[in-house]
Amino acid sequence: MPAGTLIGYNSGMTAVHETRHWMGLLHTFESYSCDGSGDCIDDTPIEATTTDGYPTSPNKQSFPENGDPGDPIHNYMDYSVNSCYEGFTGDQVNRMRSMWGLYRDAY
Ligand SMILES: [Zn+2]
Repeated sequence: MPAGTLIGYNSGMTAVHETRHWMGLLHTFESYSCDGSGDCIDDTPIEATTTDGYPTSPNKQSFPENGDPGDPIHNYMDYSVNSCYEGFTGDQVNRMRSMWGLYRDAY
């Protein structure tokens, strides 16, 4: 929460992360593996571990041997610090809209 004591996570963006769980999103590192369905979103890169802080040098890559462009450290559904968050992928937005229609929209 803003003004909280957890440095890096106290600008309010963690509330965005938690709200998006409520809207149907999973963590980008869900299942902690390069196998399986992960977060069930096709356009989020596979991520094997949570992100700690704001790693830029070297770029965080779970699977560089597979040509991995890098972990989604700027995605709100990772565990990066608040200042690292930038947004969601298109498929995450589509999932939220779908879940909203199914479970949250007033009947
Ligand atoms: Zn979470």
